[in-house]
Amino acid sequence: MIQLKGIAAAGGVSIGPAYMLGKEEFIVSRETIVWTDIPAQIQLFEEALIQTRREIIELQKRISSDMGQQEAQIFDAHLLVLEDRMLIEEVISRLKKEQLNVAYIFSEVLKKYIGVFLEIEDEYLKERTADINDVGKRILRNILGKKKKGLDDVAGRAIIVAHDISPSDTAAMHSKNVAAFVTDIGGKTSHTAIMAKSLEIPAVVGLEGVTSKVNPGDILIVDGSTGIVIINPDEETLKSYQQKLEKLKGIIDKFLSVKDLAAVTIDGQTIIINANIEFPDEVPSVKLHGGQGIGLYRTEFFYMNRKDSPSEEEHYQAYKYVAEEMNPHSVVIRTLDIGGDKFLSQFKVPHEMQPFLGWRAIRFCLARPDIFKLQLRAILRASVHGNLKLMYPMISGIEELRQANQLLEEAKNELRKNSLKFNDKIEVGVMVEVPSAAMTADILAREADFFSIGTNDLIQYSLAVDRSNEKVAYLYDPAHPAVLRLVKSIIDAAHQAKIKVAMCGEMAGEPSLALILLGLGLDEFSLPPQVIPELKYIIRAIGFKSAQKIALDALKLSTGKEVEEFSQNKLAEILK
Ligand code: PEP
Ligand code: MG
Repeated sequence: MIQLKGIAAAGGVSIGPAYMLGKEEFIVSRETIVWTDIPAQIQLFEEALIQTRREIIELQKRISSDMGQQEAQIFDAHLLVLEDRMLIEEVISRLKKEQLNVAYIFSEVLKKYIGVFLEIEDEYLKERTADINDVGKRILRNILGKKKKGLDDVAGRAIIVAHDISPSDTAAMHSKNVAAFVTDIGGKTSHTAIMAKSLEIPAVVGLEGVTSKVNPGDILIVDGSTGIVIINPDEETLKSYQQKLEKLKGIIDKFLSVKDLAAVTIDGQTIIINANIEFPDEVPSVKLHGGQGIGLYRTEFFYMNRKDSPSEEEHYQAYKYVAEEMNPHSVVIRTLDIGGDKFLSQFKVPHEMQPFLGWRAIRFCLARPDIFKLQLRAILRASVHGNLKLMYPMISGIEELRQANQLLEEAKNELRKNSLKFNDKIEVGVMVEVPSAAMTADILAREADFFSIGTNDLIQYSLAVDRSNEKVAYLYDPAHPAVLRLVKSIIDAAHQAKIKVAMCGEMAGEPSLALILLGLGLDEFSLPPQVIPELKYIIRAIGFKSAQKIALDALKLSTGKEVEEFSQNKLAEILK
């Protein structure tokens, strides 16, 4: 039995056999062939290409019907690799010249291709390496006549063990076969971790070296709430976790019992509890978990894993759907937030030394008004179908807010010119996630309709900790006194200006900090859907005045550890 501790990325406990993803190594022998075998080898290669194409289209169809067209488009890039004439012609010409078996020739050509792409300092081309690798393995598998080894083969609710998880693998995880996943790299608020929560799969990331410690079929316990992963547990440990699972189920049922009730404190203070989503097809889960509205719709996922950008009509249809489904509750659409760990290949953004401090989010949108205004027009047009609001990410000062609003005005005028209807009074909010915005919140509040605190970024910038780097994850601390002070000053500035303030960073979904945030006066929480029942339960179990006292006491503490212990104890008292 080995016990490892990683970063708790998505809550819940799962027990199951390990499934090693991406560890598929082919041993391809080098065999000489006679020239009369060449046509048969070429035919084998061509049949493998056709078979691979068939498999990808099949997979695409399945994902399209299970999850939606957008996710299925991930595989368009894979189909393109299959049509790469250069790659195909090199295999055939080397086959003729060297007279070696096609599997060997293909594996050599593939290695060379991947090597060349890896050498290039260009994120767009680097991203293509994963596609080439993925498709290349499929082709090789078909040449060798081997059965595909992938997520489709995961049996008996297995636990995925991988160095990192690719977008296409994450998409395929919608299949109910996946019980949990663990990865070598990643941080608590990295893109992978956020996706795990939206898929409701327990996950532990940043477990350095886990792929070298686990063997296929090993029994794993994954505790996504504590970050503990146990390899081949002994009888006693297994029993204790099975009991924990039972207990957890009981606790979840207790939380679920209040999911459709209002989040109102014992002394009558009502709080709005909204959900964060990445895709429109998460709306049913929001409703199922009692989310009142959507406080953060991360629209950049719409642009991911496709060659082109979504058209204005595609944007409009997606926003219209979400607006209508959630009506009369509000839906806050966050405008395109690319950069950092969210890379969109179609925009060919050059590689940056410090992407989180680089050309991201509103900075990119202000420099590309064509892309930005297309999205703004779609949001505006959809605003007549429900209660839509919009907000800008990464605002660092009032000038950016004004520039963005100027483009919003232009977008409105363009719609007017075409006699297209929109809600002229649509609320426009600012994400407060850059320390300079937090410190000038009073100035921003005069020209914003609402604030939403993006703690994922605010914490990384104020504590100088890369949110997706497991090496410095120990410093990433939402309970840090600096974070609490910043949050308090943002809330106070908003209230002074009589605007509402929400929090949509992952911190809003940390049950132990909920009492402090409530006491600091946060008006709205926006969090992953499955945490909503627990938060409602907590809010309904405390008085607002007591929460205010807890917040005041927490602000007097000196370290994040002290704050965490203090709030955990208070929460335990309330929930007992
Ligand atoms: C945040 O930074 O807190 C946030 C909600 O946005 P994202 O996680 O998409 O950067
Ligand atoms: Mg952010």
